[in-house]
Amino acid sequence: MTSSFSNLSLAEPLARAVAEMGYESMTPIQAQAIPVVLTGKDVMGAAQTGTGKTAAFSLPLLQRLLKHESSSTSPARHPVRALVLLPTRELADQVAQQIALYAKYTKLRSTVVFGGMDMKPQTLELKKGVEVLVATPGRLLDHIEAKNAVLNQVEYVVLDEADRMLDIGFLPDLQRILSYLPKQRTTLLFSATFSPEIKRLAGSYLQDPITIEVARPNETASTVEQHFYSANDDDKRHAIHQVLKSRGIKQAFIFVNSKLGCARLARSLEREGLKTAALHGDKSQDERLKALDAFKQGAVDLLVCTDVAARGLDIKDVPAVFNFDVPFNAEDYVHRIGRTGRAGASGLAVTLVSGSDARLVADIEKLLKKKIDIEALEYDEDRPHGRLNDGRRAWRESGDAAPRDAAPRERDRERREPREPREYRGFRPAVVSRDPFFDKPYESSERDAAPAWEAATRSPARSSVSANIKPKRKVAALFKAAQPETSAT
Ligand code: AMP
Repeated sequence: MTSSFSNLSLAEPLARAVAEMGYESMTPIQAQAIPVVLTGKDVMGAAQTGTGKTAAFSLPLLQRLLKHESSSTSPARHPVRALVLLPTRELADQVAQQIALYAKYTKLRSTVVFGGMDMKPQTLELKKGVEVLVATPGRLLDHIEAKNAVLNQVEYVVLDEADRMLDIGFLPDLQRILSYLPKQRTTLLFSATFSPEIKRLAGSYLQDPITIEVARPNETASTVEQHFYSANDDDKRHAIHQVLKSRGIKQAFIFVNSKLGCARLARSLEREGLKTAALHGDKSQDERLKALDAFKQGAVDLLVCTDVAARGLDIKDVPAVFNFDVPFNAEDYVHRIGRTGRAGASGLAVTLVSGSDARLVADIEKLLKKKIDIEALEYDEDRPHGRLNDGRRAWRESGDAAPRDAAPRERDRERREPREPREYRGFRPAVVSRDPFFDKPYESSERDAAPAWEAATRSPARSSVSANIKPKRKVAALFKAAQPETSAT
């Protein structure tokens, strides 16, 4: 398979746009997906933001739509032919900008609609007619209800960041949107993981899809200084305070493995005087965007997030990333720390390793093909002093699991005395995880969460969905309802 764009026989206006972007060769997802999408087949692609997947689906899609190019000003000559759905307005905006660049020498029109903005300018654009519509599900439904968007001539639908959409609880909205589309169409689904929910979605809406998987990069940037510190669970927050203080770090991402842990940690750090926001799948889109904006504006110092919630966030350069929990999936380690040290800037990645993390650290070693040294962190002060005192009071008030007050003196002494970094010896069979959780194969870091559709039916009122939208049917029933459509497409 060639990796040069010139061998694709892209139409001249598209090839010109690509050349202007300065792309020299195709990324792996492009090399695999573009030829398949050009044939009109359905695709189920495993790829994340940053792999070049936008061009992977939009270039062939634009190429196939060129037959509909029209110079007419009549809106009727510019019906929506391709619909691209994304979970957040940031991602929708990013993708729409890229599509506009690829289509700039064609007569095809594109626009983007997402929530949190006045509907009127979006309505005007839609009424003029567009071939490619990029949208977030909630706002698109608003426009459908208001009859601003007519989707009966859609030939392509792209479900981008599909796992994120399910995680946020967009499944019922997706079901509704897909029910407005012609059954004869090409459906492209992109997701970072192929969880059971994603497979079920694909089973319902994709027709004999070609599966394309692109390995995630397993290299970490040389500009990121990586440390693995030994820390018991009840020392980890102290470790965060220590690193922030000693390094003079103002802002950081803190990754955790579960939604519950995310909310809890954010609450505790906030009580300890750090401006903190949590970003996880149970937060509404509105809450997440607010947290993100606050972080970007410096009103929030620490963003505590789960892997799924953080994916695709367009935050260019975070000074430090903490892994409060060692990720279950070694590839997530690479992805997490890729948020710092971008574009040549230096970054710091700190992973807090407790006694039961040996196997997970060994997995990271294997992936990075590098030996990992577990270091002892030196603390300026003992945990019971300073701001943490407030936190300890807060713990008691909140009823959260209290830190072990009677921390063995030996441990405190050990902490004060500098030690040589301990060499980490990789996988040690003697360390037996007592939690059966670790024995299960990895699916997704949030797989213990209730299925997105259950969560969605439990909390029907979401700010991103218009009040005009009728009450939603149970999604299990919708999945069933979707079956005839699958067989008919
Ligand atoms: P995406 O994964 O689609 O969000 O793309 C990530 C970034 O990679 C975007 O800024 C693209 O402009 C850029 N990009 C996409 N394809 C290529 C390519 N073949 N060569 C170089 N950069 C690319």
